[in-house]
Amino acid sequence: MRIVLLGAPGSGKGTQAKKLMADRNIPQISTGDMLREAVAAGTRFGQQAKTIMDAGNLVSDDIMLGIISERLGKPDAQDGFILDGFPRTEKQAHDLEELLDSLGTPLDAAVLMDVDFDVLMKRLTGRRTCSLTGKLLNVYFSSQEELDECTNAGGELIQREDDNEETISNRLDVYRKQTEPLVDFYRDRERLRTVDADGSIDEVYERFVNAL
Ligand code: AMP
Repeated sequence: MRIVLLGAPGSGKGTQAKKLMADRNIPQISTGDMLREAVAAGTRFGQQAKTIMDAGNLVSDDIMLGIISERLGKPDAQDGFILDGFPRTEKQAHDLEELLDSLGTPLDAAVLMDVDFDVLMKRLTGRRTCSLTGKLLNVYFSSQEELDECTNAGGELIQREDDNEETISNRLDVYRKQTEPLVDFYRDRERLRTVDADGSIDEVYERFVNAL
């Protein structure tokens, strides 16, 4: 199964992709995670990417195409993949279409995770990762026990650098202007499925699986 996940920052693409990856044994390919790895590795490219990401802007289409073509060529992606965070512009969507057509492996579906703006803001401003376990938490939505479990064990609740209000509002603007047009792009190709992504992780996952 080859799918693209569409949706604003905070719509839950990463969370849902990870669940599907575990269930179906196909890789989640998150361009955001790949870029964060490059930043952590401290390469020259990583340093340039960090400046762009910290501002909430997009890394150039040509660079992203290079990264994604290499990743899709790896053995674990031959039987399917879940793209999370790519494509993000019309140029990237056209490039992906060309790449997959040339490989004879077109997309099965583009799934839009649909959530209201106020929920997105809470998900993004409240998002934290436990420094000990890597578990994703949210100061608005996780239970006090879950939050305490991390801090009582000596962990810290870390906020992503691009999850501050200024960067978030730019990321949402960039999404509206550059990524939202992809909804029509995939609707025109009869590949679009829309999932109501407001609800618990398990509720949304059930809708997601039903949509596939
Ligand atoms: P994400 O984790 O998907 O929210 O991505 C974090 C940041 O990485 C974005 O705000 C962009 O700066 C950058 N990024 C991730 N994927 C892409 C992409 N497909 N095209 C351009 N920039 C990207």
